[in-house]
Amino acid sequence: MSPPVECLPFLPYGRQTVGEDDMAAVMAVLQSGMLTTGPEVEAFEADLAAYCGARHAVVVSNGTAALHLALCAARIGAGHRVLTSANTFLASANAAEYTGALADFVDIDPDTLCIGIDELAAAWHPDVHAVVAVDFAGFPCVTQEMADFAHARNALVIEDACHAIGADRDGYRVGGLPWVDMTVFSFHPVKTITAGEGGAILTNNDEWAARCRQLRNHGTVSSANRAEQILEPVPFSMTDLGFNYRMTDLQCALGRSQLKKLNNFVRRRRDIVAAYDRAFTKAETEAPYAHTPVLPDTSPVHPAWHLFVLQVDFEIMGMTRGEAVSALRARGIGTQLHYYPVHLQPYYRERHGYGAGKCPVAEAYDRRALSIPLYPGMTDAEVQRVISAVKEVFR
Ligand SMILES: *Cc1c(COP(=O)(O)O)cnc(C)c1O
Repeated sequence: MSPPVECLPFLPYGRQTVGEDDMAAVMAVLQSGMLTTGPEVEAFEADLAAYCGARHAVVVSNGTAALHLALCAARIGAGHRVLTSANTFLASANAAEYTGALADFVDIDPDTLCIGIDELAAAWHPDVHAVVAVDFAGFPCVTQEMADFAHARNALVIEDACHAIGADRDGYRVGGLPWVDMTVFSFHPVKTITAGEGGAILTNNDEWAARCRQLRNHGTVSSANRAEQILEPVPFSMTDLGFNYRMTDLQCALGRSQLKKLNNFVRRRRDIVAAYDRAFTKAETEAPYAHTPVLPDTSPVHPAWHLFVLQVDFEIMGMTRGEAVSALRARGIGTQLHYYPVHLQPYYRERHGYGAGKCPVAEAYDRRALSIPLYPGMTDAEVQRVISAVKEVFR
């Protein structure tokens, strides 16, 4: 007999996997006495750059700060339009607004749930200077064709890969795609690897990397070698208005320790997704729910599945999404919505006059979406618990 559901642990839609090795790495920093802007920062940057195959990695306080600095480094600002996906976390768009640029939204391809070349072309506008392409659920969406399209129109491509660290496409790891100008990661606890909080910008461009480093530390030229700087004629010279977007050594030590396990985390996520894909096909269950996209083994795209989104026609199921969420919660299963279309948020409606009908595919997808638990620490028994609960609720 299995124990009653109230004795089983609640399974959130996502969570960190932290082990003894991670704890030891953080403890070593505490014992070193150097809590921030020390050797772990440079070491984490070197490890990230090497993992992704990029020339530079610049770590910052979170993924939102990374997006903001990437745009600042490329001198995006007032008078510019920045296109991003309607199906994303708020930060992908908000970062553009911080710079004074106008955030505008691109509809999604219903197969990938990300922007594609056709959607990008349809949303294009002469004042677009940057595209923030979001790798939704860990699907690496930036094709060379998309980047060529933007570059030919004098716009740069920033890949918001907050879901996609560990993914690869066309033989390159995300963070090192040669046709992408800058790539951004987040190390928030729900992401694939965590540092508590943290973010990074990956680029092959020396100037942008230097500018990101400067802007994360109040616009001063160097954050390294503080002791030596006092010997300079103008110590800590500030040549630009920057921010305090530094990442601590405590966080970088945790991030480094997690990065060593990234490939294992991604492998486990892919296995769980494969189990879900087998369980939730129409053919097996008759129920109208499915995950997209299922890629053939020969695909040159290898996502790092960050989310597993069921797409449920709640009308056909005869229930509201709220009722489904409650029924799953009663069975100890957490869910989340990824994402309410950002252009429909009150700020964007009121400030820029965006509204329903602007991105119809993203809006229709949103009405069906329900993310179910996916994280590497799930046991096989827990995966089966989720499958059974979902089948019960959507019978
Ligand atoms: C998490 C996330 C961010 C922001 O990252 P933070 O580290 O939370 O600031 C940006 N874009 C996407 C797609 C995300 O999922």
